[in-house]
Amino acid sequence: MPTTQEHIAVDKIKAAIRDIPDFPKPGILFKDITPVLKDPVLLNQVVNYFYYQLKDKKVQYVVGIESRGFILGSALAYKLGTGFVPVRKKGKLPGLVERHEYDLEYGTDTIEMHTDAIESGSRVVLIDDLLATGGTAEASCKLLGKLKADLVSIMFLVELEFLHGRQRLPQNVNTHSMIQF
Ligand code: AMP
Repeated sequence: MPTTQEHIAVDKIKAAIRDIPDFPKPGILFKDITPVLKDPVLLNQVVNYFYYQLKDKKVQYVVGIESRGFILGSALAYKLGTGFVPVRKKGKLPGLVERHEYDLEYGTDTIEMHTDAIESGSRVVLIDDLLATGGTAEASCKLLGKLKADLVSIMFLVELEFLHGRQRLPQNVNTHSMIQF
């Protein structure tokens, strides 16, 4: 069981991420993190890795992006002793929502959060499994801005660096990925 960041085997976690070609559509090389989630040691190390980045940052809420951000985000929130808040796709949240619409390659998409999900000025960390073009995370940052969150950090398990997604994210917020391809 790792107790410090030094014991975390990033290379092993990287090796466990599985490439699935042409999913969910032709031309996409899908980075499947389920082998990492399945392995109790690797899952523990991933959550600890994020925990050590954030433990002194006085985070109040971990905000996870649907849907793999929920898995990592809720484990991280538990470890940090914070609450967990979901960013969901349109129409999934039952209460009053704030939404943000953003452009896709073809068409648009909408994400939502409950209007009372966080209190104005709350210190939050945003987390998702993977940063690709950055569209989803950028939209989530804008939504958090509408809710007047104090965004402390943005965390990803995987970053596809060749897509330069981090350029779309707020440059004054610490953005960190554990593994890069
Ligand atoms: P993007 O908005 O392009 O940064 O895409 C990020 C979202 O799509 C994340 O929630 C990822 O889970 C998912 N995603 C995008 N590309 C991939 C990929 N190659 N492999 C796995 N998930 C991906």
